[in-house]
Amino acid sequence: MSSRRDKSGKSNRRDFFKKAAALGLGATVSGSSFWRPREASAQITIPKKPMPRRPFGRSSIMVSTLSLGGMFDILNNRLMLAKALDWGINYWDTAEGYGQGRSEEGIGRWFARNPDTRKQVFLVTKLSARRGGDFTGRLEESLKRLNTDYVDLFFVHGIRDISEMESSLKSWAQSMKKAGKIKLFGFSTHSNMEECLEGAAKLPWIDGIMFTYNYRLMHEARMKEAVEACYRAGIGLTAMKTQGGGPVKSDSESEIEMAGRFMQKGFSDNQAKLMAVWQDKRIASICSQMPNLTIMATNAAAAVEQTRLSMSDRALLAQYAEETCGDYCAGCERLCSGVLAQRVEISDVMRCLMYFHSYQDLGLARATFQALPAQTRELLTQVDFSKAERSCPRNLKIGRLMREASTLFV
Ligand code: SF4
Repeated sequence: MSSRRDKSGKSNRRDFFKKAAALGLGATVSGSSFWRPREASAQITIPKKPMPRRPFGRSSIMVSTLSLGGMFDILNNRLMLAKALDWGINYWDTAEGYGQGRSEEGIGRWFARNPDTRKQVFLVTKLSARRGGDFTGRLEESLKRLNTDYVDLFFVHGIRDISEMESSLKSWAQSMKKAGKIKLFGFSTHSNMEECLEGAAKLPWIDGIMFTYNYRLMHEARMKEAVEACYRAGIGLTAMKTQGGGPVKSDSESEIEMAGRFMQKGFSDNQAKLMAVWQDKRIASICSQMPNLTIMATNAAAAVEQTRLSMSDRALLAQYAEETCGDYCAGCERLCSGVLAQRVEISDVMRCLMYFHSYQDLGLARATFQALPAQTRELLTQVDFSKAERSCPRNLKIGRLMREASTLFV
């Protein structure tokens, strides 16, 4: 399938999707591509097959392979929860900080009106330990917002080093389990994931981990070993950031070709990226941000269909990953932040840029940026990042990107 080219001769993804939509092959929603069945009109439908479930680590609790990521204003979008249950999505993920509490509050409002559904849901919330304060008190506040006595899984939010899982947290987790406030305990991470996983595999009190994992990272030797070690240790694994979006928008030739090839087969590149991760049976679930029904329906369709990607499909994804390697931040911040004299959380800033360029969600990017430590935000225009750039295996233009973030998100 051919694609249009801009004045510089480059293919243009937006034009491509406009053309594809006109042909009835797909749709453009808020600037992003989402698949829908070729025969579909405005109606969103998903196949009438059950949502697959997998055991969550040694707990053996069966969770839907697609999890509802709750980083949005659920309070005003509770229809999403009803549809999630209708479509068999029983794993709901939220956090203290999502939507400034409106995510937890929205789920709580749902449980208040639909108390019978609480037991159907595998409910996860997270607290950042770095924020300090009374951890137990903050969990109590979360439970109050969620209108429940317990969460099925509690994550320490966004660790970047396994040393953060100190022994005091082990004792805390045990006491919270004993009190019936949490059933399982673990952490989430999008920085230095491999090291965090390797360390966790040696800690028998870690029940679950949510981590960045996608078609770009899943074939890297160290990541493969780290995932295997956790899987063998009985840790339940949830993949996030599975679209592998980056702080740089590429619109590359291979992206256009990949999208066209997948679309002709009846699914989108977004769905193919999910399916690539589901083919790894060690991953219990994919947590996906699904703030609207279009995204939820397309993701649910991909989960339910369980279409296996062919070898040539996987090769296409690998080719795309290689060609756009320099657009993606892999979260290995020990390599870049680690060489700077002053602490700047580079990979977190890259994540904000990813929300902007890849998710096209300025609100989320700004909110995440504003939640970063003040020192990181203040130093973005002051620090010389050339040493960090030399250490980056993907040759990301860190200095330019940090300045871009400081302009976009203030
Ligand atoms: S900027 Fe480069 S070194 Fe730093 S986390 Fe991203 S990919 Fe790794």
